[in-house]
Amino acid sequence: MKAALIGVGQAGGKVTEALLAEDRRAGYGAVRGALAVNTAKADLEPLDIDTILIGQERVKGHGVGADNELGAEVMQSDVREVVGALDGVIDAQTEAIFVVAGLGGGTGSGGAPVLVKELQRVHEIPVYALGILPGRDEGGIYQANAGRSLKTLVREADSTLLVDNDAWRETGRSVTEAFDAINERIARRVGILLAAGENVEGVGESVVDSSEVINTLKSGNMSAVGFASADAAPDAGENVNVVTSTARKSLLTGMSVPETTEAGAALVVVAGEADRVSRKGVEKARSWVEEETRSMQVRGGDFPLDSDKIAVLVLLSGISRSERIEQFMERAKEASETVEQEQATEDFQNDELDDLL
Ligand code: GDP
Repeated sequence: MKAALIGVGQAGGKVTEALLAEDRRAGYGAVRGALAVNTAKADLEPLDIDTILIGQERVKGHGVGADNELGAEVMQSDVREVVGALDGVIDAQTEAIFVVAGLGGGTGSGGAPVLVKELQRVHEIPVYALGILPGRDEGGIYQANAGRSLKTLVREADSTLLVDNDAWRETGRSVTEAFDAINERIARRVGILLAAGENVEGVGESVVDSSEVINTLKSGNMSAVGFASADAAPDAGENVNVVTSTARKSLLTGMSVPETTEAGAALVVVAGEADRVSRKGVEKARSWVEEETRSMQVRGGDFPLDSDKIAVLVLLSGISRSERIEQFMERAKEASETVEQEQATEDFQNDELDDLL
């Protein structure tokens, strides 16, 4: 799928940079262009992609902190400039736009939904969000911000592909230490999804196509992606079980939103050398995913990759009934009530102080 990536905020910029780097490294050629947008100058400087600084009048390059309302206002004021800066990033061949953001902060959390809405107005192609949910041990303000941002994104984007920061984090590391590792995983996994349909010379009909990704994503407004890989024998005939067991691992333990198995639609992508990928295995994996997701709409196909391993990527769409998402929304709601109470107390104390002065 020929995609344009726009990262909003710090996480958005870093993940976008990682996705572009992975696309170039693997030679997929799926990422047509990338841009990072931020209110904080210092967060844009280290990035090796095109950038645009917004909100200079309001925040003078210092960022919006964790104030996502300010993030939304600043994006609203400068959204035309951002859309204008996308001339070289989105072109006639672009099939989809991805707005990438961490949903717990300020700029990405508030800015991404505003930008998605404007892009929907201006462009005919699907506009997706790639949204990162804060880990469980991040503070209440992050949970509350992410809850609000997610609600708006889901309304505006054609689909919001979610990655829970607790999902692909190595145990023993704190979320902060692990960000770079998580970003690399996002880049590899989402990179394969974007590359579906690209880079396919002289291959058969069973190869996944970008329209299958787009049609799968149509089935619901939230989506997630799973991944697992395993060593494969040189001969496809010996790899039936490798394909099926890797598909199980991908769905049951490798999802970007853990404990999510029910879906409206799914796509199973089996990546590996054409000689190693068992057709029977792909079909068996596809029907297993059909049973497990209880969806009648499960597509499947190969993705030719020069590797000794076989990897299975499972895209699930229409996952709003996921227990993990329900838990997150509950956490966000509670946090939001606490944040409001604290704000009210602070306002009250400030008023009292004003009265005294
Ligand atoms: P913003 O710059 O105001 O949009 O805020 P940040 O992007 O710094 O942070 C928003 C949220 O994104 C945080 O709550 C974290 O959950 C997450 N986050 C920040 N940086 C990274 C990163 O590099 N990788 C990942 N996966 N998540 C991040």
